[in-house]
Amino acid sequence: MYDLSAVRRDFPILSRKVNGKPLVYLDNGASAQKPKVVIDTITRAYAEDYANVHRGLHTLSTISTERYEAVRGTVARFLNAASEDEIVFTSGTTEGINLVAYGWAMPRMEPGDEIVLSVMEHHANIVPWHFLRERQGVVLKWVDVDAAGNLDPQAVLDAIGPKTRLVAVTHMSNVLGTVVDVAAIARGARQHGVPVLVDGSQAAVHMPVDVQAIGADFYAITGHKLYGPSGSGAIHIRKDRMTQMRPFIGGGDMIREVHKDGVLYNDPPMKFEAGTPGIVEQIGLGAALDYLMGLGMTRIAEHERDVASYAMDRLSGLNWVQVQGRAKQRGAIFSFTLDGPAHAHDISTVLDKKGIAVRAGQHCAGPLMDRLGLTATCRASFGLYNTFEEVDALIDGLELCHDLLA
Ligand code: PLP
Repeated sequence: MYDLSAVRRDFPILSRKVNGKPLVYLDNGASAQKPKVVIDTITRAYAEDYANVHRGLHTLSTISTERYEAVRGTVARFLNAASEDEIVFTSGTTEGINLVAYGWAMPRMEPGDEIVLSVMEHHANIVPWHFLRERQGVVLKWVDVDAAGNLDPQAVLDAIGPKTRLVAVTHMSNVLGTVVDVAAIARGARQHGVPVLVDGSQAAVHMPVDVQAIGADFYAITGHKLYGPSGSGAIHIRKDRMTQMRPFIGGGDMIREVHKDGVLYNDPPMKFEAGTPGIVEQIGLGAALDYLMGLGMTRIAEHERDVASYAMDRLSGLNWVQVQGRAKQRGAIFSFTLDGPAHAHDISTVLDKKGIAVRAGQHCAGPLMDRLGLTATCRASFGLYNTFEEVDALIDGLELCHDLLA
């Protein structure tokens, strides 16, 4: 049984009011709220156990290091990785993908080599590849989605040619909510000997993820969307790929020895983690993932499926609301526009007056916006604590927008 009231009580911010109205937080796709256990873990880490990690021999450093390093195992369990040695800590998905771009792709790509991307990618999974295009003459090959926002795995595989060196694809669109069959893509790409990077920023929040079952080479997640602290995150990198990678950022901790005439790097995954890391952020991420695993990702997914299906029904009942993306496999993320002159920013502002937080804009997805022929949408993205009543509040808010702005 999913006890929604108990879950909501775990999140202190949900009891606050915004503009005199109970908060209806539907901006989870941008960043999720934090349960008390995460807030308490962060407070305790600073108040009782804080010191730098790895370098100290004193008690606090040892405790801090143990707590921090234990999170590697927690992330491995959350993603069902074969080993915690395959988990590199990052500040979020953006850093994870840049690590792959600089550490794995840059040293081995030549002019004319190709990277296959979908048009549905977030800028975090586009801009690092543009760096390779600009600096090394790498060609970006774009795979379209259909009118409903489905990405056909076969279309991605068909885009692979003899010069393709990487497929980089999202597991779930942050705009359309489309869930991509990344396991089929990884399976097919392996037959061509092409590695696959999956942007798991959104998917890992809404469904159980099993990186071994998916079989991709790189799978990036970001902590702040997973109900953990901002500045936390991780990337799962298959061992054989890790051994091929060059370090990305240089500094302390990622080295074993440094001399005037050379350096000896630490073993992976430490080799890819330079400088003082987000110690407390990662410890907080561990608490968030334990919380999610305690609730059960399958049960969270079931709850969100019910709320999302209710939201789709209610939004579809408003014939002046255009929901963007009705893919066969989709999650609890809805981007929409209103017929008439109402701009997404105005809609968001009116909703905010009712205590409803949504996002408005292009959602860091320029190529998808071009594909949709839009400059902005409103996005309501649901999380594990959202209710059917909050869907109703959104609909009431949109009816008000329609009256005021149409
Ligand atoms: N990829 C997707 C699909 C996202 O939704 C986001 C964040 O909005 C990112 C990547 C980037 O994540 P972060 O900014 O946490 O690095």
